[in-house]
Amino acid sequence: MSLGHIPWVERLRTPARPPQPWTSASWAAMGERELPVGRRRGGRGIILDLDDTLYPRERFVSSGFAAVAEFLATAHQVDAQRAFGLLTRAHAGPQHGQEFQWLCDRTGLSRELVPVMLDVFRRHLPAIQLNSGVADALRALRSEGWRLGILTNGLPSVQFRKVAALGLASLVDDIVYAEEHAVGGKPSAAAFRAILRALDLAPEQCLCVGDDVVRDIRGARALGMRTVRLVRPGARLAACDEADMVIHSLRELPGAAGLVHSMTGEHVA
Ligand SMILES: [Mg+2]
Repeated sequence: MSLGHIPWVERLRTPARPPQPWTSASWAAMGERELPVGRRRGGRGIILDLDDTLYPRERFVSSGFAAVAEFLATAHQVDAQRAFGLLTRAHAGPQHGQEFQWLCDRTGLSRELVPVMLDVFRRHLPAIQLNSGVADALRALRSEGWRLGILTNGLPSVQFRKVAALGLASLVDDIVYAEEHAVGGKPSAAAFRAILRALDLAPEQCLCVGDDVVRDIRGARALGMRTVRLVRPGARLAACDEADMVIHSLRELPGAAGLVHSMTGEHVA
C-alpha cells in the first residue's frame, strides 16, 4: 500500500493543503476504527521492546531466584545456595514454570509458600544491566533526533522495577506498559497505539525493534510500522513474518535505523 494514498499522511507531507475534516467514517473506510495516534510533523521514532532486547531476561530470573533463596534462608532456615541451585535446575529442566512448587517438594516446605515466593520474586529489585553498547546506542539515536519509547509486556509492577534497575528513564522519551492498555499487551494494536500516542507520532513515522516475531514484529507491521528484529548470533531466522531488517546487537541500530526508516512501507498489508 502506498502511503501517499492515505489522506492524513498526505496532509503531513503537504502542509500547504488545507486540513480535511476527519471523521471516524473515513478511518473506517480504510479498514481502521481508531483515529491516527500522533502527528508530530517531521518526527521519527523508535519503539523498543525491553526483555531480551535491551537486557537478557534470564538475568532477571536468576536475580529473582537469588532473592527467593535469600528469603527462604532468613524466614525458613533453608540453605540459600541449595535453594538457588534447585530453582535454577528446575528452570532449565522439565519443571520449568513449576520451579517454586518443585523447590517445596524437594525441601519439605509447604506449597502454601508458593504465592509468598512468587511475591518475593516479583517485588525484588532486580540486579540486571543493559546489554553492552545499549546505552551508547540510545544516546546516539536521540542525538540524531529520534524519539525513543519502550513498549513492554509483562506485569507493569514488575516491568517498572526492571526499568528502574536499568536506569532507562533518562535514556528514552517515554515508557508504556503494554498490559495497561490491552489484555496480554503486544501484539495488540491498542498497546502500540498507546506508545504512539505517548511519542506523538504516527505508525509510518516509527520503526519497532524487538526480538519476538509475533509480539514485536507482526504486531508493529499490522499497524504499518517498519521493523527491526534483534536476533542472537547464530539463531535461525523465521521464513515468514520477518522484519525489514535483522540485527545481532543494539550497537547496529543507529546505523540501521535511518536505512529502515527510508523504506517505502510497501510491505504493509
Ligand atoms: Mg522481548
